[in-house]
Formats: sequence, structure tokens, C-alpha cells
Amino acid sequence: MNFLEERIEKEGIIREGNVLKVDSFLNHQMDIELFEQMGVEFKKRFEGKPINKILTIEASGIGIACIAARHFHAPVVFAKKSKSINIEGEMYVAEVESFTHKCKNHVIVSKKFLTPQDHVLIIDDFLANGCALQGLISIVHESGAALEGIGIAIEKGFQPGGRAIRNLGYPLESLAIIEEMDAKNGTITFRKQI
Ligand code: 5GP
Repeated sequence: MNFLEERIEKEGIIREGNVLKVDSFLNHQMDIELFEQMGVEFKKRFEGKPINKILTIEASGIGIACIAARHFHAPVVFAKKSKSINIEGEMYVAEVESFTHKCKNHVIVSKKFLTPQDHVLIIDDFLANGCALQGLISIVHESGAALEGIGIAIEKGFQPGGRAIRNLGYPLESLAIIEEMDAKNGTITFRKQI
């Protein structure tokens, strides 16, 4: 088991409806030393790629992206959730359905901060059905930037997002991939990674 899998096993709480709570270290209270280890690992997994910008989504991707960004010496842009899209024109817009909140949001990124000259690494905390990621990918494509990779902290491998995105040929790296989790007895099985 790697450092993140160990932490998930120790502190993750499985909720009904395929939700894993990791708010003691990832998305409410944040363990910055763990984020630092994740940053090192993302840098290793995307070594040699000409990444000059990190893109994430509000809110829980931001902390992870910021610590990772130190290793790429790149700024972080986060897609903002917005109920109105009347700022369209100067913004890239995508529609994203939230897995945890079951609602639809528009996410927006200013055209000033993503251009055809950029080489982007997308970072997020979770990958479930892939809706958040598809939104970010569409924004990168619309901007004309090059998508160099996608780094995820926790992928729920039993949900379809990861497979769909790999099938589309995107370089997707998840630090922990959950194969199975059982809310009744609290067990989590991880996919073996080399
Ligand atoms: P997706 O769009 O891939 O279905 O879901 C991705 C987003 O939903 C993530 O950015 C994350 O905020 C949230 N999410 C999905 N599954 C979980 C989960 O099991 N636990 C938590 N805490 N967040 C989740």
C-alpha cells in the first residue's frame, strides 16, 4: 500500500451511496504534509511533461493543486462554480453535475488565464463518474491549450469515470484507486499499481 492508501484505510469512512469521507485529511481538515507527498508523486508521474499551468475545480481540488503546483513551478487556475453564465464571452464555460451534491453547476474559467500557449495538468481530489473532469477537459480543449495530464488523488474505480477517460486516451494518474468498498463492514480494496 502507498502512503495515501494507508491513510484512506486508517481514516476513511464509507457512507451509503458510494461516498467515501476523507474530511479528516483531504477535503475539510487538510494534511499539508500528505499533500506535499502527493505533490512529489504527481511530479514523478508526469516527469518530463512541459507543464506550465495547473487546472482544478472549486473547492476541494484547490488545496491539493496548490501544493502540487510548487513542484511544477506553475500557477494554479481553479474553475469557479457559477449559477449564472451571463459573463459568457470572456469565460470558458462547462456544465458539471456534482456527484456529492446531486446538482448541476456551471463552471467558468476566465479566457485570460488559459490560452493556446498553455500546457495543462488537471488535478482533482476525487474521480467518480467523471463529470467534473469532463467539464475541465472540455474547457482545456475550448481554450486551445495542450492537456498534458490528469492527476487525481482518489479514484473510485468501481464507478465509470476513470475507465471512460482512459478509453479516450488521456494520461490519467490516480494516486489511490479504490476497487471496492463495503459500507457494512468498512472494508476498502485498492487496485494494485506498479
Ligand atoms: P465525478 O464528477 O467524477 O462524479 O465526481 C467528482 C467530484 O465529486 C469530486 O471533485 C469530489 O468533490 C466529489 N466526490 C465524488 N465522489 C466522492 C466521494 O466518494 N467522497 C467525496 N468526499 N467526494 C466525492
